[in-house]
Amino acid sequence: MADTYDVIIIGSGPGGYVTAVRAAQLGLKTAIVEREHLGGICLNWGCIPTKALLRSAEVLHYAQHPQNYGLKIDGAVSADIGAVVNRSRQVSARLNGGVGFLMKKNKVDVVWGEAKLSKAPKGATPGEIVVCKTAKKPMEPQHPTPKGTLGEGTYKAKHIIVATGARPRVLPGIEPDGKLIWTYFEAMIPKEMPKSLIVMGSGAIGIEFASFYRTLGAEVTVVELLPQIMPVEDAEVSKFARKQLEKQGMRILTEAKVAKVEKGASSVTAHVELKDGKVEKITADRLISAVGVQGNVENLGLEAVGVKVERGTVQVDGYGRTNVEGIYAIGDVAGAPMLAHKAEHEGVICVEKIAGLPNVHALDKGKIPGCTYCTPQVASVGLTEEKAKAAGRDIRVGRFQFAANGKAIALGEDQGFIKTIFDKKTGELLGAHMVGAEVTELIQGFVVAMNLETTEEELMHTVFPHPTLSEMMKESVLDAYGRALNA
Ligand SMILES: Cc1cc2nc3c(=O)[nH]c(=O)nc-3n(C[C@H](O)[C@H](O)[C@H](O)COP(=O)(O)OP(=O)(O)OC[C@H]3O[C@@H](n4cnc5c(N)ncnc54)[C@H](O)[C@@H]3O)c2cc1C
Repeated sequence: MADTYDVIIIGSGPGGYVTAVRAAQLGLKTAIVEREHLGGICLNWGCIPTKALLRSAEVLHYAQHPQNYGLKIDGAVSADIGAVVNRSRQVSARLNGGVGFLMKKNKVDVVWGEAKLSKAPKGATPGEIVVCKTAKKPMEPQHPTPKGTLGEGTYKAKHIIVATGARPRVLPGIEPDGKLIWTYFEAMIPKEMPKSLIVMGSGAIGIEFASFYRTLGAEVTVVELLPQIMPVEDAEVSKFARKQLEKQGMRILTEAKVAKVEKGASSVTAHVELKDGKVEKITADRLISAVGVQGNVENLGLEAVGVKVERGTVQVDGYGRTNVEGIYAIGDVAGAPMLAHKAEHEGVICVEKIAGLPNVHALDKGKIPGCTYCTPQVASVGLTEEKAKAAGRDIRVGRFQFAANGKAIALGEDQGFIKTIFDKKTGELLGAHMVGAEVTELIQGFVVAMNLETTEEELMHTVFPHPTLSEMMKESVLDAYGRALNA
């Protein structure tokens, strides 16, 4: 007899485990199936361990420039890569344990293994999954399997939520081998510091690793196919970030393509087609392939139950509903933006709709913030200036520089700016874009404003504390209307 649940979630990443907690809060009998690590990519191989690595790099940078703060450090300060990685793994392990605790606290059954949807008998709602031993070799280091988990078997549920996440996209001919050509997995746990590195792709993942390794002293070359790094960001922000990264000694090639990679005994040579048509051979210790991710849609039995999958992602509506009743998908496997907070929110919406809660708002992809934690940090929400113009919006643009903000100067972080974009006619905030210290913490102010459909007037009437970096947010709004007070 199959165990029966209201909801079974496949995958325990930020999408899956948050959905499980919310489902349990709503009184639904819930199980979650995981084949590898509680917490998914985000907690184990993504968001969290990278931030731990980047924090070590940031502290190293400060320690190497004590004179900027009137301090003296006797003797050289350097990174112990083993200890840096170890700290990052400990941070990840702590959060992995935290997910186990949350499952227990909320009485969510954890099933360990690889889940597959069963083909439903003709006319029946597909509501059965089979969990078998995982075929995938988990990445090392592996956290221990939590106690009290259920094992292989058949489990039944009224609602099945696919939250299986994504994996690195691989370019043919440049397949990662884990030794010379890395994905984010190997880049997260280097055994020794590479002296030189090629980073292929300049999205958030590529740029964060480039920033980490450069700060730790590696020679880093970033190769990006498109005209700007961090292609989804506002062009002005991207240009400014590029200049700062280049000042730190990073080499950045845009409109350039890694056409071929030759592997030596302990190095790689990338044949890079440049903008002008010439080919440059670049040799480095390692190459990180960071050309995006693709949804984990395979071997789930999705085709058998008739779930629509397009370009590697499950097709869903604003509530995570697929075309098959009773089957849902959330998070990376349900498409862009492939971000942890999108996965979490999508899961909450999905399960609240399942529970029949009133006034559940469909996911609004236009108001999901994006952050890149390189130095300088980059954060944004809503339309870029280019996109606003392309959409035919008549806009007002405001800017405010870190160099004119008291707190930024006191912090020794006077490089960066905040840019806001308003609809000229209505005063609606269409987008906000930031580059500089701590902007990943600031952006949420504008996300709340956009969600409340705030206009310029309400933002101007809001009092911001002094001295803070957040004052620049208000100044940027004022600037859009020719009223900046400190510039
Ligand atoms: C290096 C890196 C840095 C990142 N940094 C950030 C960041 O700073 N901020 C941000 O918002 N996002 C970041 N991301 C993206 C973020 O990690 C993902 O958006 C997020 O993890 C998606 O969550 P998810 O729940 O959809 O899937 P995942 O976290 O991928 O979890 C899916 C889970 O499903 C399990 N699974 C898959 N198939 C099966 C199956 N058949 N049976 C059982 N279990 C299965 C997997 O083992 C996995 O644990 C980063 C990603 C990377 C790689």
